[in-house]
Amino acid sequence: MRCFEYSAKKIFKNEGIPVPESYVAKNPEEAEDAAAKLGKPVALKSQVLVGGRGKAGGIKFADSPEEAGKVAKELLGTEIKGEKVIKLLIEEKVNIQSEFYISVIMDRSAKKPVIMASTEGGMEIEEVAKKSPEKIVKYHINPLDEFLPYQAREIARKMGIPNDLISKMGTFILKLFNVFNKYDATIAEINPLVLTPEGLIAADAKFGVDDDALWRHNEFADLEEAKKGEFAYVTLDGDIAVIGNGAGLTLVGMDMINLYGGKPATFLDIGGGASQESIARAINLVLSEPNVKVIFLNVLGGITRADDVANGVITVLNSADHKVPIVIRLTGTNEKEGQRILRDAGIPFEISMEEAAEKAVEICRSLS
Ligand code: GDP
Ligand code: MN
Repeated sequence: MRCFEYSAKKIFKNEGIPVPESYVAKNPEEAEDAAAKLGKPVALKSQVLVGGRGKAGGIKFADSPEEAGKVAKELLGTEIKGEKVIKLLIEEKVNIQSEFYISVIMDRSAKKPVIMASTEGGMEIEEVAKKSPEKIVKYHINPLDEFLPYQAREIARKMGIPNDLISKMGTFILKLFNVFNKYDATIAEINPLVLTPEGLIAADAKFGVDDDALWRHNEFADLEEAKKGEFAYVTLDGDIAVIGNGAGLTLVGMDMINLYGGKPATFLDIGGGASQESIARAINLVLSEPNVKVIFLNVLGGITRADDVANGVITVLNSADHKVPIVIRLTGTNEKEGQRILRDAGIPFEISMEEAAEKAVEICRSLS
């Protein structure tokens, strides 16, 4: 699982790594409010998982709350390298004196984590590696040994930074390694780590966690990106969220929507044997997509039980603050029970996938 910058910074901050003060904004009003709360010039940073946002135009600055609102309006909804911008991180604009690079990555060929550090921060590290590899310090850590402060300072010294920064840089490197280790990360990167008049601060944050270790880190359970990792999930251009159990059935569901003249907004495969809770999470996930106008839930229960699906749907519909119509096609294992639960709750359903898809498209059309 790759974290968005704002989630990564939250985790880094909890572990004692200084980060700029910031707020997440989903619309221009929230961006304006955030800038007002910060009370100083801000950086507006597109929250996408691709790198190189700065160069791609995904990072802008504003001097006043009004300007922040205006800039947010420009950024939201655009695409950065094919990824749609849905959230912005509104952050105090830091006063950069110099930029550094530090990271911890799992070096699979060495079977050890490797710490990399460089004075050439702000650029993509691959470029530094190509042009001036001697400017990157690499230091492997034996996973069976403790990583000690003097080793972190040794890395800092090898970077070739001013003497008065070595101890502070060492502390930073030690903390980054500890975060990497504690959360079973695959990557923890700060680029740039910036020197400001107030000291060193993480201006950017990249954090990836081993999916097989997610179960032992409750801290991630609420992250949107972790929930996405639970399902095979792709967002698309349309406005009808397609959810199915099984990749094949979900694809067929998308084809049906297209056939009746609709446009899918998501491909979400909940997989086999989804529980009531995961059905609810899947629906909540598509509800968090601003484009979605109708949900088409297409379930042919095998291992997945229709009564679990029905109960999951009811849980969400009762708690969602964002209401959109949902068209359910529900057959298969325990279908009588599942259909009874929906009927009792007054939620309509279909048996035929074709009819359900057609209905979803009709409802969507009637809304626009
Ligand atoms: P990336 O392009 O996706 O790696 O995004 P970064 O967060 O690393 O930002 C790219 C570049 O924008 C940084 O190297 C900085 O030069 C600049 N930048 C980002 N945030 C700030 C900020 O708060 N103040 C200033 N002055 N520059 C910033
Ligand atoms: Mn960066």
